[in-house]
Amino acid sequence: AGRGWAGQPGEGSLHDAAEPDPARIRTRFPPEPNGYLHVGHAKSICLNFGLARDYGGVCHMRFDDTNPEKEDKEYVDSILDAIQWLGFSWDFNGRSHQYQASDYFDFMYRAAELLIERGLAYVDQQTPEEMRINRGTLTEAGKDSPWRARPVEENLRLFREMRDGKHAEGSMILRARIDMASPNINLRDPAIYRIRFAEHHHTGNKWCIYPMYTFAHPIEDALERITHSICTLEFEDQRPFYDWLLGQLRDAGMFSDPLPRQYEFARLNLTYVVTSKRKLMQLVTEKHVDGWDDPRMPTIVGLRRRGYSPGAIQLFCERIGVSKGDSWIDYSILEGALRDDLDEKAPRGMAVLDPVKLRLTNWAELFGADHAEPCSAPVHPHHPEMGQRHFNLGAEVWIEREDFQEVPEKGFRRLFPGNMARLKYGYVIRCTGCEKNVDGQILTVLAEVVPDTKSGTPGADSVKVKGVITWVSASEGVPAEIRLYDRLFKEAQPDAGGRDFLEVINPDAKRVVRTWIEPSVAQAAPGTSFQLERHGYFVADRKDHQPGQPVFNRTTTLKDSWSK
Ligand code: ATP
Ligand code: MG
Ligand code: MG
Repeated sequence: AGRGWAGQPGEGSLHDAAEPDPARIRTRFPPEPNGYLHVGHAKSICLNFGLARDYGGVCHMRFDDTNPEKEDKEYVDSILDAIQWLGFSWDFNGRSHQYQASDYFDFMYRAAELLIERGLAYVDQQTPEEMRINRGTLTEAGKDSPWRARPVEENLRLFREMRDGKHAEGSMILRARIDMASPNINLRDPAIYRIRFAEHHHTGNKWCIYPMYTFAHPIEDALERITHSICTLEFEDQRPFYDWLLGQLRDAGMFSDPLPRQYEFARLNLTYVVTSKRKLMQLVTEKHVDGWDDPRMPTIVGLRRRGYSPGAIQLFCERIGVSKGDSWIDYSILEGALRDDLDEKAPRGMAVLDPVKLRLTNWAELFGADHAEPCSAPVHPHHPEMGQRHFNLGAEVWIEREDFQEVPEKGFRRLFPGNMARLKYGYVIRCTGCEKNVDGQILTVLAEVVPDTKSGTPGADSVKVKGVITWVSASEGVPAEIRLYDRLFKEAQPDAGGRDFLEVINPDAKRVVRTWIEPSVAQAAPGTSFQLERHGYFVADRKDHQPGQPVFNRTTTLKDSWSK
C-alpha cells in the first residue's frame, strides 16, 4: 500500500508484538463521557467485563470521545468510579487498559485516505437534503451522487482541504463508496467524515473534521485488537458496514486477521425508569430530582446512594441474562436481586417510622422508675457469628402508631384495650387504654408489663400472645431522618409512545419522616445497610448521615410492591 505502517505486524494495533498480551478474550466498554452511567450501562458493564473475567481475558475501558463535545472531568471520574464500584477492573497482567478514542484520530485519518486511494471513498458536495432524498428508501434503491465518480486525486485533494479548514461546515462530506442499491441502507455510501469547526477537549483545534461513529468504532476495536465488540441491537444493521470497513482496511494492509467481530444484544428497558442520558440530564437540570445521585435516579450513583450493593446489581444482570429480543424487565426483578443479596448480609435493627409513645404504667412498681432492662437480639437471625445487639427497655418506648387500635378491627392482634402482645425481644404487655388530646388524637398508649415473660427467660412462653410489635426505647432511641422512596414515575413505561415522561413523574416518590432508631443502627458508618425489622432495607446516607445524626434512605420494602 506504499505506506510505512502497512503490512508490518503489530503496526495496526496498540499491542506491541514484542510484548505478547495473552488475553484470549478482549472486550470493551465504550461510553461517551457526556453523562453518568445508568442501570442499562450496568448490564453492558457486567456483560463485557464479566465475559473477560470469566474467559481469561481483558475488558478495555474506552472513552468514546470522537464527538467534539465538551467532556466533563466529572463524568470521566464518575464513570471510572462506577465501574470499579461494581467490582470490575481494566487492568490485565499488571497493565492498565484505559483508552480514549480521540487518541486514534491520526490513524482514522490515514484509514480514510487509504480508502480514497483505493477508490473506496469520495468527497460528496450534495446538500444534506439531496443526500437524504438520493439515499432512497427501504423499497426504493438510492441514486448515485453526481460526485461519486470523482477521480482519486481530486478526492484526496478535497479531503485534505477539508482537513485544512478550507471548506465550510456542511459544504461537503467524505462518504464510503459501497453500493447505492444495497437493500441495507447503511451500505448506501455512508458518511465517514464531516467538517466541524469545534474544539475537542483533548485534541484542541488540531482537527476540523471528525469521523462518524460508525467509521470510528470498528477502527477503535481493530486497533485495540478487540475480539468481541458487543453492542445493542440497534447496531445490527451496521454490522455489514463494520465488516466491510475492516475487511477493506485489512486488504489494504492496515489490519491483520483475526478482525474483531460485532455481536448485538438487547438493551435493558426497565419499567418505571428512563435510561436515556438526555432524559436523565433533564431530570437533573430541571431539578425534578436532587442531582445525579438522587436515590430515585436509575444512575449507578443513584442506585448506590439508594442502598443498592454491587452484588445486587451483578445478580440482577445475571438473572435477566442476555438476549436478542427487546423486552421490558420488571423493576421487581431488580428489587428481588437486592433483597436476595442483602437478606444474607444486612445486620438487623429496629426503628419506629410513625411513632406514638407507649407508657408501661407498672414499670416503677415492678422494677423502679429508672430501671433499664437489658435486652438483646441477634444481629442476623441466620448468622450467630455476627453476634448480638444490645439495647434497654424502660418505662417508655416508641411504637408504631398502627400497632394500637382503640377499637380494634376484626382480626387485629396487636395493642387494644384488654389485649396482650409482646414487645419484641422484651416482655409481654397488656394494653389498658390510651391518653388523647382534646381533638381526640392519641398521645400515649398505656400498658402494663406482664411479669416474668421476658424473651429468652424460662417464663417467656408462659403467656401466649398473637401479636409481636417492634419498638425503640424512648430514653435511648436516637431521632433519625428517614427518606422513604418510591418509584419515580407513575407509569411503567414513562416515555412510551412519545409521551412526555415529565408528565408522569410521581410527586410522592420522596417522603421524609422523623423517626426513632435503635442506638446500634444510629452509630453506623455512612453507606452501611440494615434490615430494619418489618420495614425493609435501609442505608445510612452516603452524604448526609453522621453517626449520632442519622439519615437513612429506604432502599426497598421487605415485600415486592411493584408487580400487581
Ligand atoms: P444514550 O443513548 O442514553 O445517550 P448511550 O447508549 O449512547 O446512551 P454510551 O455512553 O454510548 O451511552 O453507552 C456505552 C455503552 O453502554 C454502549 O456500548 C451501549 O451499548 C451500552 N448501553 C447504553 N444503554 C444501554 C442499555 N439501556 N442497555 C444495555 N446497554 C446499554
Ligand atoms: Mg452512545
Ligand atoms: Mg445512544
